Amino acid sequence: MTDTLTTAQRSRLMARVVGKDTKPEWILRSALHRLGFRYRLGGGGLPGRPDLILPKYRAVVFVHGCFWHRHADCKRATLPRTNADFWKEKLERNVARDAEAVAALEAAGWKVIVVWECELYRDPVAAVSRVVAALTEADAAQEDGGCDLGALDPRRLLQVAEEKRRYRIGPKSLDEDTDQEV
Ligand SMILES: [Zn+2]
Repeated sequence: MTDTLTTAQRSRLMARVVGKDTKPEWILRSALHRLGFRYRLGGGGLPGRPDLILPKYRAVVFVHGCFWHRHADCKRATLPRTNADFWKEKLERNVARDAEAVAALEAAGWKVIVVWECELYRDPVAAVSRVVAALTEADAAQEDGGCDLGALDPRRLLQVAEEKRRYRIGPKSLDEDTDQEV
């Protein structure tokens, strides 16, 4: 492969592409966008740096990796055998940080919605429906309450996510000090 990027460009690209644009998040973003929901990315300086911010609904969405964020009773939430103590402590810290972020956000009046990656892989339409329901429950009278979930094609959603994923470059080091998804 011809390398046409400078080190700085590559570094920026890596940070952008590997950091947040994980496949499950793309599934959700693609679906919400299609349904007419508009969101902001990048955390907005909020606690826990939510993946999606929907100011209109005063809501934030976290798309959590099951491993990093310890999805309860999920087979993806394994504990590595090597350095088990290190991992246990690190992952427990993630969970504690998540809880603090949720508490801080809720205290500030944000509705917090957590979606797990396995939900989005298994049944993207159901996962998206749950998010839409959570977003619109408070103001069901609004127009947005009537968005057409039937318009979502799960296969298309997965396909879009897969296309986006091709832009990911390289495996992310597990040693990296991060609570983000790989
Ligand atoms: Zn899970």
